[in-house]
Amino acid sequence: TKVLLTGASGFIAAHILDVLLEHGHSVVTTVRSQAKADKIREAYPKMPKEKLDFVIVEDIAQEGAFDEAVKIEGLEAVIHTASPFHFNVTDTQKDLIDPAVIGTTGILKAIKKNAPSVKRVVITSSFASILNASKGPSWTDHTYSELDWNPVTMEEAVQNPANGYRASKTFAEKAAWEFVKNEKPNFTVTTMCPPMVFGPIVHYLNSLDALNTSNQRIRNFITGQVKSEIPDTGTFIWVDVRDLALAHVKAIEVPQAADKRFFITAGYFSNKELVEIIRKNFPEYEGELPGKDVKGGDYPEAGLYKYDNSRVKNVLGIEFTPLEKSIVDLVKSLKAVGA
Ligand code: NDP
Repeated sequence: TKVLLTGASGFIAAHILDVLLEHGHSVVTTVRSQAKADKIREAYPKMPKEKLDFVIVEDIAQEGAFDEAVKIEGLEAVIHTASPFHFNVTDTQKDLIDPAVIGTTGILKAIKKNAPSVKRVVITSSFASILNASKGPSWTDHTYSELDWNPVTMEEAVQNPANGYRASKTFAEKAAWEFVKNEKPNFTVTTMCPPMVFGPIVHYLNSLDALNTSNQRIRNFITGQVKSEIPDTGTFIWVDVRDLALAHVKAIEVPQAADKRFFITAGYFSNKELVEIIRKNFPEYEGELPGKDVKGGDYPEAGLYKYDNSRVKNVLGIEFTPLEKSIVDLVKSLKAVGA
């Protein structure tokens, strides 16, 4: 299948690219600069241009940004991952919401207008669009599933960057389903809703200073930045990046994935567990880690919400990587870039 993948310079997209090529698909991927295209190309020296090609889309927040990029002969599927995931925002609307929402609606409009051969579209949404933050982690009588929607409002979105990010993902995913309802396009849409994503980074794109957001807490542990107290975990559920990448690719391969949302989590974790996994497997970081008796990072005493991850297992056949393997592989990949 010929696939357009947006944002291949990202942590998750780099793994999706790997799986797509492994499964024999032909990939055209968008990046923001020629320099990024060159780096990715170097990582796949033997891959011919028909199998791996690039198109530059500098800013997905611009209306019509994808209009030309989708004009690809024989294009059948699109995987849209590009969206800002960071908290350095000065203007929530411009920095987070516009690229998320206009990026998503923009690519859907562009496909409808200029790429009539496309049959499947997969969008990387987030648990952020499912979670009800006002209920906190100890909403013990609730089971999160694909039926839940984050009730965040625009007013709450601008209160702080965490709200802003979660709102950007919620508004973007809602806009995608609205598009399907109103425009009745020729293609199906599938959305992926992962919580915290951990796992190895690809060495060719990353450095310790320019690390994707969800892996930063592990970098902070092994570089001695949080020795006196383990920070709150925040979101207590996670998934390995390789399982998530496979799920995106299965979503274009498995017909039953069409028109569905997928909540993809492997289960619970706490920051304290992450520290103990690193301590057990990497004695060389003992001096950097918070000590054994340091406070914080535990599960809440009042318990946790529950989760239902059955759809992703039943429809896409995903088997989950255990937390210890994900963190060990991540730390190894951070060592490879100098940690
Ligand atoms: P990264 O920051 O590694 O990747 C983000 C990607 O989006 C990069 O390729 C980035 O390009 C691109 N991008 C951001 N803003 C723009 C813009 N204005 N114009 C063009 N490209 C842009 O993060 P992840 O890989 O973690 O995130 C990928 C997706 O997964 C996002 O949609 C995110 O919301 C979602 N997600 C991530 C989770 C996680 O824990 N990691 C959890 C749930 C969802 P560049 O590299 O050039 O900056």
